[in-house]
Amino acid sequence: MNEIIPETLRRGKQYLDRVSELPVSSEQDVAAIRRHLEQTYSFADPMPSSELVDDVASMLEDWAVQTIHPRYFGYFNPTPLPEAVAGDLMAAIYNPQLAVWSHGPAAVEMEQHVLRWLAAQFGLPLETCGAHFTSGGSEANFTAVVAALTSRLPDYARQGLAGIDARPTIYHSAGAHDSFTKICHMTGLGRDALRVVPLDERMRMDLDALSARLEADRRAGERPVMVVATVGTTAAGIIDPLQETAAVCREFDAWFHVDAAWGGAAVLSPRLKKHLRGIEMADSITCDAHKWLNVTMGAGMFFCRDKRVLDEAFRVSTDYMPGLTEGVVDNFVTSVQWSRRFIGLKLFLALASRGGSGYAEMIEGQIEVGDYMKERLVEAGWVHVSSSPLPVCCVTHPRIEVGDTSVDTVLEKVLASGQAWISKVKLGDRWALRACITSCLTTREDIDVLVTEMNAAVVP
Ligand SMILES: *Cc1c(COP(=O)(O)O)cnc(C)c1O
Repeated sequence: MNEIIPETLRRGKQYLDRVSELPVSSEQDVAAIRRHLEQTYSFADPMPSSELVDDVASMLEDWAVQTIHPRYFGYFNPTPLPEAVAGDLMAAIYNPQLAVWSHGPAAVEMEQHVLRWLAAQFGLPLETCGAHFTSGGSEANFTAVVAALTSRLPDYARQGLAGIDARPTIYHSAGAHDSFTKICHMTGLGRDALRVVPLDERMRMDLDALSARLEADRRAGERPVMVVATVGTTAAGIIDPLQETAAVCREFDAWFHVDAAWGGAAVLSPRLKKHLRGIEMADSITCDAHKWLNVTMGAGMFFCRDKRVLDEAFRVSTDYMPGLTEGVVDNFVTSVQWSRRFIGLKLFLALASRGGSGYAEMIEGQIEVGDYMKERLVEAGWVHVSSSPLPVCCVTHPRIEVGDTSVDTVLEKVLASGQAWISKVKLGDRWALRACITSCLTTREDIDVLVTEMNAAVVP
């Protein structure tokens, strides 16, 4: 074996052993990074493996937000489980091709086995359901829009949008993920086809406003094709009313997509599952394994109630590919990607190793630490401006409200401490500080450090 692999494992172990002692974030000096690259990497001569691995690792440690750090309270980047790292390594070593079943039968079946298990957790009908792994939630959401257009507009497949008289429109709440803006652009729907529905007093999609907009658009001769409900909005962890949204979709013959990129994992927790009631009515679901299922990027998943829609949307015949196999999944004719890596192995290993019960424990452990975080912040005088059953919170402080200091100043000070990483978000027309539990290694002691730093930072 080329020594670069053992060298990588050696250095990776060192990093994992000491990451919680590193600053969570670092300086962002583009000039220094480019200077280093130019001085060290002319690519003219070979470089010894140990030197190369050590240098690359140092760059990754010195010039990055350490997303696997237990005091990274940022976006949905979990500390990956060791099983996931092993899965990535194994997938890279064997490098099976999962485009065609006949090239990687075991790999495709392992992925389908995991996906079926999750589809059952969501309550989707296994006889009709189709699912595949994606690069992430954005690709899964893109797939959902293509499926919706294919399902609701019979001429879309052959003639595209040009063949459709009524303009197709898509609906999601003001808290939904902005991937749909790009998707409307990429699919040719146009960004104006996206209808942003206002929020109710609990920051969920306002269903009266949704119905009113659908009605008005339909009267104006547009064709509503899809409504997106979010399970766990990126900013505040809000869960839209799923059952009610499903009913509205039925009324308007719109595709019902649930974007559960982060929050979908809650279905594995007996304690949280009730918040996802209605997800079983979805026409399609996005759920990212690389978020709350704690595997490495990029591992998204797309679930489709009726796999015939995927067969229709992505069908293609080629003369240079091996033939399709009856009764199995040939990914390249049911999904966006063509050549594809063995994305699902890491989730397969993690689930096999920990079981659904292990996952439930992990998720509920994070909920408990999240509840502790929410309580500690209130005790320290912080004020919640949103409410979610998921381990994320958005807060402000009386000192910010009276103008003694600002969200930006507090944020800057917390990040400069190197002790914790949080972010800011805009909810409605006000800014707040956002902290989210993303790591199953985060403890109450880590929360104490976070609160101490936030308290210190809010003093003008
Ligand atoms: C993260 C996220 C996405 C995008 O997923 P990627 O994996 O980053 O592509 C979409 N929707 C929601 C609700 C998300 O949280």
